[in-house]
Amino acid sequence: MSLAALQFPPRRERELDGVAECDVLVIGGGLAGAMAALSAREQSASVIVVRPAAAASRMWSGAVDVASGWLPPPCPFSEAPSIGSNLRHILRHFPWHPYVRIGEAEKDLPAALEFAARELPQLGFPAVNLDESNGIFASTAGGWKSSAFAARPAAAGDLRSRTDSKVCIAGFSNWPSCDAPQLAAMLQAAIRAANPGCRFEAAAADLGEWPEQDDPSWRTPRYLAAMLDANRQDWLPRWAEKLNAQTRDASLLLLPPLMGTKGADVCEELSSLTGKPCAELLSRPPSIFGERLHEALESALESRGVRIYRDRAGGFLKKGDRLEAIVCDNGEVKARMVVLAHGKFASGGLVRDSEFSESVFNLPLFVRGEPVGYRLPEEFLSPQVGGEHLIFEMGVKTDTSGRPLDEDDRVIWSNLVACGSCLMGYSQTLGISGAGAAIYSGWRAGRIAAAG
Ligand SMILES: Cc1cc2nc3c(=O)[nH]c(=O)nc-3n(C[C@H](O)[C@H](O)[C@H](O)COP(=O)(O)OP(=O)(O)OC[C@H]3O[C@@H](n4cnc5c(N)ncnc54)[C@H](O)[C@@H]3O)c2cc1C
Repeated sequence: MSLAALQFPPRRERELDGVAECDVLVIGGGLAGAMAALSAREQSASVIVVRPAAAASRMWSGAVDVASGWLPPPCPFSEAPSIGSNLRHILRHFPWHPYVRIGEAEKDLPAALEFAARELPQLGFPAVNLDESNGIFASTAGGWKSSAFAARPAAAGDLRSRTDSKVCIAGFSNWPSCDAPQLAAMLQAAIRAANPGCRFEAAAADLGEWPEQDDPSWRTPRYLAAMLDANRQDWLPRWAEKLNAQTRDASLLLLPPLMGTKGADVCEELSSLTGKPCAELLSRPPSIFGERLHEALESALESRGVRIYRDRAGGFLKKGDRLEAIVCDNGEVKARMVVLAHGKFASGGLVRDSEFSESVFNLPLFVRGEPVGYRLPEEFLSPQVGGEHLIFEMGVKTDTSGRPLDEDDRVIWSNLVACGSCLMGYSQTLGISGAGAAIYSGWRAGRIAAAG
């Protein structure tokens, strides 16, 4: 089977050609942009999304942080605060966070999360109860994350209840990116203080001889996931047999996060073959969870009748304080309202040339309410790796409905609403609310844009 045949299903990409019109134009097709587009569609607006690529959402680990954190290592998992109390902590102590600046998060967050679960059924997001504590999920980075929930293939890996049990890290001995013995040792060290009764062991089985093994690309998670899909009938029973022999007294099997392009059904089948719950570990980039998220977003947008164009917004036409049209590489989009969801630095939404700025409208950027302008990057980086790197919190400052503000707190464009990681006030990777803030602010931006 050729490498091309084993890729994720390719999508038919449309490019703009001339002038398109809609009620709401969304700039950016990551998690925040897709949520905005879907929630504007729910309010019956006609919606166009332009995006050149998938960007940060495609690096997603598989877990959704809504209000995580504050679990120092000596704190046992059983004493972790509820998601709701973490949320109230954010509302009290993080005045620049989108949960505080935009709308009423304490009231609206459950509705936004429910909306995401409904619109993205492939990901199997559960109903969230803010009175419960966060789940605890192990990752291929060798540590654990406290997150409100994880996508279906990782959900059964929640370690909160594994207080006196053996967890087996199942790896492939001929795929070095998931070195099971090393990972088990790292996880054991990371979890010792918080959950001493949870013991990790490793089991590794050879993937077998596959024709493409000489091809270096077979080692990428994307290729391997598609390969496992294609050879599933053959490898899954063989792998289950080997794991059964090695993991008799384990109560949970944690698997490399590439169990086929879908994941959940492979974990379920492996569970029934081994008689043990099986779940994928959370992933580092490059991430199959990110690929699955991208797939889920694109198919949700298509099924709701959102027009998606592969294009980059680069300029605009204006009339007074209103944006009349957005100029893209291959055409123009005229829209009543525009949603800005083009991400942070990695996605090209924020840039630093001579100064820090936003890339389409040249909006000013802020850190904790202060304009950034010409200051140097090192002023926003801590000398300690684990220190406070304010550069990750940099972004667009908005009013309470998400409209970007200038240095004097005046709304810049009356028909522009921002959402997701381009907003000031939270770090999408190191923080406490990455995907949760993208879902919440995107959902809200879509409703405001549809009504605007
Ligand atoms: C490595 C990594 C790990 C993560 N892990 C977690 C986790 O464990 N838990 C969690 O909760 N969150 C996690 N996140 C965060 C979460 O995935 C992101 O916060 C969220 O997906 C960001 O979404 P976004 O839509 O704001 O931005 P992005 O996903 O970056 O999307 C931006 C979009 O805008 C497009 N774009 C950029 N410029 C233009 C332009 N000029 N015109 C048109 N389109 C443009 C890009 O192509 C892209 O489609 C992680 C993020 C990263 C990077």
